[in-house]
Amino acid sequence: MEYVESTKAFYEAQKVFPGGVNSPVRAFGAMERDPIFIEKGEGAYLYDVDGNHYLDYVLSWGPLVLGHSDSRVVDAIVEQANKGTSYGATTPIETELGILLQSLYPSMEQLRFVNSGTEATMSAIRLARGYTGRKRIVKFSGCYHGHGDSFLVEAGSGVATYGTSNSAGVPEEIANLTSTLPYNDMAALEDFFELHGNEVAGVIIEPVAGNMGLVPSNYIFLQRIRQLTEEFGALLIFDEVMTGSRAAYRGAQEAYSIQPDITTLAKVIGGGLPCAAYGGKREIMAFVSPLGSVYQAGTLSGNPLAMAAGLATLKNYHEEDFNQLVNYVERLKEAVLSLAEQYALPVQFQSFGSMFSIFFSETPVENYADAQASNQEMFKRFFSGLLDLGIYIPPSQYETLFVSTKHGEVEFQLTVEAIDKVFQSLCR
Ligand code: PLP
Repeated sequence: MEYVESTKAFYEAQKVFPGGVNSPVRAFGAMERDPIFIEKGEGAYLYDVDGNHYLDYVLSWGPLVLGHSDSRVVDAIVEQANKGTSYGATTPIETELGILLQSLYPSMEQLRFVNSGTEATMSAIRLARGYTGRKRIVKFSGCYHGHGDSFLVEAGSGVATYGTSNSAGVPEEIANLTSTLPYNDMAALEDFFELHGNEVAGVIIEPVAGNMGLVPSNYIFLQRIRQLTEEFGALLIFDEVMTGSRAAYRGAQEAYSIQPDITTLAKVIGGGLPCAAYGGKREIMAFVSPLGSVYQAGTLSGNPLAMAAGLATLKNYHEEDFNQLVNYVERLKEAVLSLAEQYALPVQFQSFGSMFSIFFSETPVENYADAQASNQEMFKRFFSGLLDLGIYIPPSQYETLFVSTKHGEVEFQLTVEAIDKVFQSLCR
């Protein structure tokens, strides 16, 4: 494959943007090669500016359950755009999407639309603090909740990819109000609550972590968090920005049968346009302005284009579609593990619903330390090998792969053949 035009485009972009990108992982830095520049997306495929095409397992980092430029989503956006792109006033379409989300996530008795996952999580912890009158937030290492100051402490995703773990520019006074515990570690959780439980405003968690690669939480661990937050009067926030419509059709809260106090959603609910939401018990949401004293607002919140794209996506994505994606992932798991055995490679294929990731590790990855200990050098070669064969996976070990309804039998076979070749090359 040739990447001449992408290389040129990257050169130009670096003059304009720090690192040539508008979000760090897109720079492919950890993979030690230049990024590809995208021309268009269609179905399960991405096309770059050199005319190469790639089977896409990133899918805009999760939102595109129906694949790229699905005609039903595109038509809905165009129809809405012809009526205006933003009014800064209320519309019935917001209520329509809100009701649909409530039906999928009954724990969200009331909700508020915002524009990004980061905004949703920042608003959720402000609400937890406003509601409880406490300051401390608990998170888990390797989980990523966007780039709000309080979350950039031992965070996953791009923060982990670039090995910073914490961000400069976050005042110590703010970082000190976030306590970070190891994921899936019951003893650490219990010890922490025994000492500090009464200080905690909220515990925020990715119930299935997708930002240190795919690492599901242990059911007993998650249930214990629910018990302890109730016991100590803290709020439990499920960050389902990634897991919504993906870990299970109705999110991880359905898969684990655990009701959080607040849920954050983004990605799928906007069908590829900027849209997110936070919501929870009516009594808690009553603290949000204009009803209550926790201020939160947005010029483009509930944007009609995003609402139209979200509605078109969710109305055309049914439980059978979700099951089809799960089936694809399960078959892929079987094929990949069989190839790994054939080539005697230490592979962990970790999956949950329509999300998965591959670690080069002898043992299952259960937390951030395990993810960091996996063979990153091998992952780098795996990524590059696949890209050169036209398969695009996230350019980082600390991310998750996704499938869409457009990933069918042809795509499945292409993937298995490419992985076969790349595994073979990893043995050399
Ligand atoms: N929470 C989780 C679990 C995420 O995966 C992400 C982004 O990937 C975010 C929050 C932040 O969302 P956004 O990038 O839309 O700000």
